[in-house]
Amino acid sequence: MSERTLVTGGAGFLGSHLCDRLIEAGHDVLCVDNYYTGSKQNVLQLIDNPRFELMRHDVTFPLYVEVDRIYNLACPASPVHYQADPVQTTKTSVHGAINMLGLAKRTGARILQASTSEVYGDPEIHPQVETYWGRVNPVGIRSCYDEGKRCAETLFFDYWRQHQLEIKVMRIFNTYGPRMHPNDGRVVSNFIVQALRGEPITIYGDGTQTRSFCYVDDLVEGMIRLMNSPVELTGPVNIGNPGEYTMLELAEAVLKLVGGKSKLVFEPLPSDDPKQRQPDISVAKEHLGWEPKVALEDGLRETIAYFRSKLQA
Ligand code: NAD
Ligand code: UDP
Ligand code: UDP
Repeated sequence: MSERTLVTGGAGFLGSHLCDRLIEAGHDVLCVDNYYTGSKQNVLQLIDNPRFELMRHDVTFPLYVEVDRIYNLACPASPVHYQADPVQTTKTSVHGAINMLGLAKRTGARILQASTSEVYGDPEIHPQVETYWGRVNPVGIRSCYDEGKRCAETLFFDYWRQHQLEIKVMRIFNTYGPRMHPNDGRVVSNFIVQALRGEPITIYGDGTQTRSFCYVDDLVEGMIRLMNSPVELTGPVNIGNPGEYTMLELAEAVLKLVGGKSKLVFEPLPSDDPKQRQPDISVAKEHLGWEPKVALEDGLRETIAYFRSKLQA
């Protein structure tokens, strides 16, 4: 059945891949974005498709459209961007969630929230399970993002309890792939761009902190499965790749694939930078039959090819 699907933040990295997949599956897609970090470039391939519609709109303002499903992805995701205008970041998460939940309430649409592993903060539990409440600094430089996303989760669960909305809350762990921004300061894009340019690879801190990196295709598959799961499954559900690497290991992996002669340089660790992060994906495995398929090396190869063509363009 063709569904009218709204994707907020649809011109961003994850959103544009999601729009591709939904159009491929035969749905009507309304992509809403204010182009804060996303761009029309990311969805150019869809512009001529009659089932695709692109709308410039900021989700902190009300939106009146008729849809069956809502994927709420609008929000800058990298520290550089979400810290550039922290007040707007919190507004986007909180007012954006209220408006999209209001829209879901009026239309009866099912709604999925792109939440984040950042709700776990700098965790005391490893790997992180969905029942862990997290350790987040409420007044630090990452708080606009972390607390905004936590409040959005609260709103989702209160609209579910109070108004019986069909909600899905997905906690996304670090994801990488083509269409990441070259300048968004995230570790995968930074290392690849630095290696391709033969510039030094910047390791923050001593590089022993860990992250788990999920390839975008795996992530989008998990997102669609969660949206289509039985109504009882509200989440939160972790979606990520449990393969865990130190930043030093990631730098080595990138250098091996790119070649070149970049050196490692060590720079100060940003404040509140989580020491380790790895998803426990038992819930996704059991209830969605989902697990990631793309190995880090294969995903990095695709991402490197993308950045190589971008830098040459
Ligand atoms: P992105 O920055 O590429 O995409 C976010 C999109 O939202 C952009 O196109 C941006 O222009 C748009 N946007 C921002 N504020 C808006 C507003 N007020 N109104 C309308 N549009 C707005 O980031 P991404 O990596 O694609 O992330 C998508 C979602 O997934 C975000 O909600 C993010 O928090 C979440 N997430 C991503 C990751 C990751 O590793 N990429 C990890 C955890 C969670
Ligand atoms: N809203 C929206 N589109 C809709 C319906 C509601 O953007 O189709 C917004 C509206 O601005 C409202 C918010 O969602 O402020 C929350 O809606 P809800 O019905 O929960 O609350 P209320 O309208 O009672 O404040
Ligand atoms: N990082 C790094 N060098 C960089 C960019 C980031 O060592 O050039 C580190 C950063 O301090 C963090 C990890 O890589 O420990 C992941 O950073 P990113 O901003 O990609 O994601 P997040 O911290 O939000 O998980």
